[in-house]
Amino acid sequence: MDRTEVIIIGSGVGGLCCAALLAKYGFQVTVCESHAIAGGAAHSFDRDGFKFDSGPSLYSGLSYSPSPNPLRQVLDAIEEDVEWVNYDTWGCLLPEGTFDTKVGGEQFCEILQKLRGDRAVAEWKHLQEVMKPLASAAIALPPAAVRFDLGAILTLGGHLPNVTRYFFDVLKLTGPYSNILEENVTDPFIRNWLDLLCFLLSGLPANATIAAEVAFMFADWYRPGVKLDYPVGGSGALVDALVRGLANNGGKLLLSAHVSEIVVEQNRAVGVKLRDGKEIRASKAVISNASVWDTLKLLPKNALPKEFYQEREATPECDSFMHLHLGIDGANLPQDLACHYIVVEDWDRGIDAPQNVVLVSIPSLLDPTLAPPGKQTIHVYTPGNEPYQLWQGLDRKSEAYKILKQERSQVMWQALERIIPDIRSRCEVTMVGTPLTHQRFLRRHNGSYGPAIKAGKGIFPPPTTPLPGLFCCGDSTFPGIGLPAVAVSGMSVANTIAPVEKHLQMLKNLGI
Ligand SMILES: Cc1cc2nc3c(=O)[nH]c(=O)nc-3n(C[C@H](O)[C@H](O)[C@H](O)COP(=O)(O)OP(=O)(O)OC[C@H]3O[C@@H](n4cnc5c(N)ncnc54)[C@H](O)[C@@H]3O)c2cc1C
Repeated sequence: MDRTEVIIIGSGVGGLCCAALLAKYGFQVTVCESHAIAGGAAHSFDRDGFKFDSGPSLYSGLSYSPSPNPLRQVLDAIEEDVEWVNYDTWGCLLPEGTFDTKVGGEQFCEILQKLRGDRAVAEWKHLQEVMKPLASAAIALPPAAVRFDLGAILTLGGHLPNVTRYFFDVLKLTGPYSNILEENVTDPFIRNWLDLLCFLLSGLPANATIAAEVAFMFADWYRPGVKLDYPVGGSGALVDALVRGLANNGGKLLLSAHVSEIVVEQNRAVGVKLRDGKEIRASKAVISNASVWDTLKLLPKNALPKEFYQEREATPECDSFMHLHLGIDGANLPQDLACHYIVVEDWDRGIDAPQNVVLVSIPSLLDPTLAPPGKQTIHVYTPGNEPYQLWQGLDRKSEAYKILKQERSQVMWQALERIIPDIRSRCEVTMVGTPLTHQRFLRRHNGSYGPAIKAGKGIFPPPTTPLPGLFCCGDSTFPGIGLPAVAVSGMSVANTIAPVEKHLQMLKNLGI
């Protein structure tokens, strides 16, 4: 039996942020990852010389420091970094037409002028003004200062005057973003556009996305000179930086180490059992980075109060994904390709309707090391809008599965053909992923994007649990889905476990 101080189940970005910070604080940390590759939804994988991102493709606020992005703050705290490339343009294929848009407010006004006229531009400018104090309020309380014990009086105390200053704005931030849109915007295109951005941020439309998340995005995307970031080496390079932070401070990452059970003794989480029978004991804490549904499966019955268990088990789920991972011949591609495209079929179907939105990412345009010379790496996906029920129970080797894969992937091929018309004849590597692939490779319940907790109706749970010694981090924990959000939950668990004086020192080092 191995012994350590802290065990983390899962090496998603949330788990790794937590692990690397705890190791930096001086704890003995062991991360048990079920997969053979670290990173969870953000892992990269290689195939025939191409490097693919399994998930995230949109990054911002990471290539400069100090930054309000909590993931950047974790990298700063563990003194690790990634090489970043910057870009500012996306391609949009929307019902209104096809155009490139830049992050930042000004160029979007030009687009609005062309598509919708003066009144829409005036509304957009008004919305920018409305969002300014909300954006300041969203970053008034630094997540790095949050801890879930009485020590918070010391770590958060100094920031409270800031929060009081924005008191009424903070109240607005807790509701759905649609409340703010309804008060300030009548133009249908602006409403649809923000509905789309909300869906991409949280997996839910504007009427269910918490306004704080959108305000945070406004703070980041609409500042002067803003650029978006991409990690050289793909999402795996970001994961590697967190793993280095862990290893350089004595932490261990065990790959292919599937946790089959959380060991509970005398009403306390004291360790884990691995699928191969090995047991590891943790003297301080067991932290689950698995989804809420996957975490519950690991706990012995009666380890948690019945009501708590039932409530968590009933957490509503976002839908899953379809993926196309393609390695293509890059000769004579259209000259003006952007590295990202958003394709929306029909606003009226609802932004979260199955097969309605497709995202295309060609990261090798930014980082040529992701493909062999003369080739390009492409990831196309339907973001969190593929119903798991369509796939449930299908045998992955069956003909029915093959046919459904063929059928449900067409929308991605068709979207890509609008960008690279001869795409099908260029493919050297073709992989189609389904909710079952997602479930299998990311070890995620029903291949879900994460909890579908609607703003105004519920709130993501804190990282503490009623079982002493058990904490949670990742996209089932407050504040929810997305890389910055999971960095927050990872960071808040590490900070809650760390002594207050070390936490304060970390904040001082970060200038917070
Ligand atoms: C296709 C896609 C695109 C996305 N795009 C973006 C984007 O552009 N920008 C953005 O910010 N976010 C994006 N996201 C969201 C973001 O990637 C996720 O919210 C985030 O990576 C989730 O991290 P996590 O720490 O919660 O855990 P996960 O990534 O889910 O990792 C959990 C880990 O736990 C492991 N695990 C589970 N059970 C066990 C067990 N029993 N034993 C051992 N290990 C176990 C899993 O194998 C996994 O590695 C995207 C997600 C997807 C899927």
